[in-house]
Amino acid sequence: MLGMKRFQRKKEDFICEHCGEGVKGIGYTDHCPRCLWSKHVDINPGDREADCQGMMEPMRAVVIREGYVIHYKCDKCGYLHKVKAAENDNFEEIVRLSRS
Ligand SMILES: [Zn+2]
Ligand SMILES: [Zn+2]
Repeated sequence: MLGMKRFQRKKEDFICEHCGEGVKGIGYTDHCPRCLWSKHVDINPGDREADCQGMMEPMRAVVIREGYVIHYKCDKCGYLHKVKAAENDNFEEIVRLSRS
């Protein structure tokens, strides 16, 4: 039921397991603003219900009207996911992904 999905906000700080950056949770941070890697922890955005815990690799970035969408693939299970880029994300990295 797509319409039933609700975004759950949770504030949490975490250490990026890819580059070691300390990330301040602002409520909907689900990826590292420096290297853009994420972690497979959600089934629905923000629910932290996935038990995979694999690293999500940023594959590419796509330009949309309001910014960028980053496409991810889970290293461990191959799960595909996309998320809107945040304002404080590493822009050079996003541009690099959008070109590849
Ligand atoms: Zn990182
Ligand atoms: Zn996974």
